[in-house]
Amino acid sequence: KSAANAIPEMGGARVAEPPLEPTPEFLAELQRESDALENETPQAILKWAVDRFAPKFTMATAFGPEGMTIIHMLAEIAPETPVFNLETGYQFQETLQLRETVLERYGITVEYKYPEQTVEEFEAANHGPVYLTDPNRCCFERKLRVLHQAARGWHAWASAIRRDQSEDRARAPIVGWDKKFQLVKISPLANWTKNDVWSLIMKEKIPYNPLHDQGYPSIGCQPCTRSVLPGEDERSGRWSGFQKTECGLHSS
Ligand code: SF4
Repeated sequence: KSAANAIPEMGGARVAEPPLEPTPEFLAELQRESDALENETPQAILKWAVDRFAPKFTMATAFGPEGMTIIHMLAEIAPETPVFNLETGYQFQETLQLRETVLERYGITVEYKYPEQTVEEFEAANHGPVYLTDPNRCCFERKLRVLHQAARGWHAWASAIRRDQSEDRARAPIVGWDKKFQLVKISPLANWTKNDVWSLIMKEKIPYNPLHDQGYPSIGCQPCTRSVLPGEDERSGRWSGFQKTECGLHSS
């Protein structure tokens, strides 16, 4: 295996040099590490990720309950970990406020990553809001393209996905190669349930988006998020009226 891709023993503090390449050997190593971490706590998984990949380890967050939980853990394990948010220009004020709360509570500055065009420029160039006519393209321009740019230069990032969220996510390894963004993806909460997340939020008084208490289980951009009724699917409030349930960040 290449020296750049070599993985130290768990708990090692070696820093890998770029670029990481998804060689068969490296992917096999990731699989072994993932298997070894399968029964570890999210904190232990994050600690491993920091030891292995920092300072090339980062996290993108939309300030959801799982993301806030990981930020809370990172604040204890490695508060210097860079965290960023895709600021599409369409986020709820309540979501933007969480960034300030994270700074106050944890001293962590979540960096905004912006699309090239402002909302005004984007809508003017497209004769109106693109989310009304083609949300896939809107998400591509305002999220995916920005995320591809933001992912460059990093070796690994933390993902807030849980396996019980969807069929696609059910196959997520703890540690795996993110083909879409070409870096290692670590999912410390893969084995947690929604109940596990909210139990910790309540126990530790982790800040969360107040919209969750107003019928919004899943929160994205304001124009594409509505509250859901009791019994409705959690994500049915996202892109309601369109055949779309994911922005494309996590789908393979
Ligand atoms: Fe555009 Fe809606 Fe996607 Fe946000 S969630 S980027 S407003 S389509």
